Amino acid sequence: MKSAEVIYDAWVWRRSCGGARLVTARPLLTSQGLTSRIMAHFRHPATPLGDAEDFIIEMPGEKIEYRPLHEDTGLFHALATMERSPDGCVAFASRYGLLGGEITRAVRWNGQDALGEPLRLWYRQVNALWIALDLWMQLSEDNQEALRRRIEWKTEAVVMNGIEVIPGAIEGCDRGDITGPAWRYLRHMLDKELQHRMAVRAVIDGSSGRPTVHLEPSSLAGALWLQLALAVAEDKNYRACAFCGRWIEITPGLANVNRKYCSDACRMRAYRSRLKAKKG
Ligand SMILES: [Zn+2]
Repeated sequence: MKSAEVIYDAWVWRRSCGGARLVTARPLLTSQGLTSRIMAHFRHPATPLGDAEDFIIEMPGEKIEYRPLHEDTGLFHALATMERSPDGCVAFASRYGLLGGEITRAVRWNGQDALGEPLRLWYRQVNALWIALDLWMQLSEDNQEALRRRIEWKTEAVVMNGIEVIPGAIEGCDRGDITGPAWRYLRHMLDKELQHRMAVRAVIDGSSGRPTVHLEPSSLAGALWLQLALAVAEDKNYRACAFCGRWIEITPGLANVNRKYCSDACRMRAYRSRLKAKKG
């Protein structure tokens, strides 16, 4: 009997049609000094405010739902490789929504309460995702030279990225081997990032009308780490759309291996711009 399933395709995230913007704002704090998105809804008049900093905030507007794990299976690529700048973060948040989870704060800006996320925590997420993606690329290409720059055998242990030694990272690895420790380091990163970003939920099954158990991301950040973890586990390949740059999944051996565009719309637009260039 099927008792639990992982929900990928149906998982929904929301973005505001008002987009996002960068503001300097003060987070609302709970009495314990912790920030909480609940504060946005149950605001105490004497809400203490934290120090002002740069936030990506969601602007008011109708919420648009989309299914990142179905519509954009290469979205983690877009976040990991995006321009590390306020403009880059605002563009991403406007198109896909806030990253969500533990980095979301209730903030006060212009006398209004809004949901926002510190810019510095966006940069941290982008960097972490980039390090993991880059390491996976180097492992996929068996780029020993690049891996050797990150991983070094010392007398007693393995040093990774100059400082970190992951417990158990060298167990079962031959002395001097760098591929084994690198895979273990990637596993450690994925595990650390996914642990607190996945939720187990009991939901009513549409066909049986009875409760069933689902595993799903609890935030967009969780969904992107899940995408990367699945891509690593299933050894997936990606390519950027030749027209709009959106990352698309390609499956070796299947018809889409030569796919250049993310959609028929992009294929047509590319065709029209080629025609235009010819005429021009
Ligand atoms: Zn495209």
